[in-house]
Amino acid sequence: MSDQAQVLIVEDEPKIAGLLEDYLRQSHYETHWIDNGDTVDEWCRKNNPDIVLLDLMLPGKDGLTVCRELRSHSQVPIIMVTARVDEIDRLLGLELGADDYICKPFSPREVVARVKALLRRAEMTRADPATSYRGLTIDDNKFSATVDGHALGLTPVEFRLLALLASQPGRVFSRDQMMNKIYMDGRVVSDRTVDSHVKNLRQKIHDTIGSDDLIRSIYGVGYKLE
Ligand code: CA
Repeated sequence: MSDQAQVLIVEDEPKIAGLLEDYLRQSHYETHWIDNGDTVDEWCRKNNPDIVLLDLMLPGKDGLTVCRELRSHSQVPIIMVTARVDEIDRLLGLELGADDYICKPFSPREVVARVKALLRRAEMTRADPATSYRGLTIDDNKFSATVDGHALGLTPVEFRLLALLASQPGRVFSRDQMMNKIYMDGRVVSDRTVDSHVKNLRQKIHDTIGSDDLIRSIYGVGYKLE
């Protein structure tokens, strides 16, 4: 692996893409350019870029759709690029999960500065010691959880549950707290839903390392990571 961060540029105007590539490379970033929305998600799944510059108006899937696709499985930093400044308010209202917004025409220097700032922030999140505990490693960027190097193959809900428990090992989380964390859309679910997700989670851990004592149930309260 190269230690240069890789920036994915999704942009259908070759001139703009070329300009961005020039400036980003001068700042020692690797770049990859895609000129339509249809192949972005697949490419990202395979190549795990460190950050995505995503134009809103694209041939194929538009930037909104691509952003939602990426967010369904990845925490990669996304900078949304739009041609209209008044569009930014609307985009913010949609809560797409983009990390920053830039309006065209932009100065390439400004874009590089924003890329740097976001990568620094992502780096600090990654460095959180709570993401690694008793052989358990949780990578928010790749949405992956491993125990002793073995992938657990979790669903998004199971992943969020485990990430919550691992964020403060030893702390008991109530079922309510867990439900609030795993269903970000405010869906109403019963206590049993949490229990059944935890049961599946334990099963997967057991199948992977032959023991399931990582997650402990506290009778009448909730769960904690031992
Ligand atoms: Ca465009």
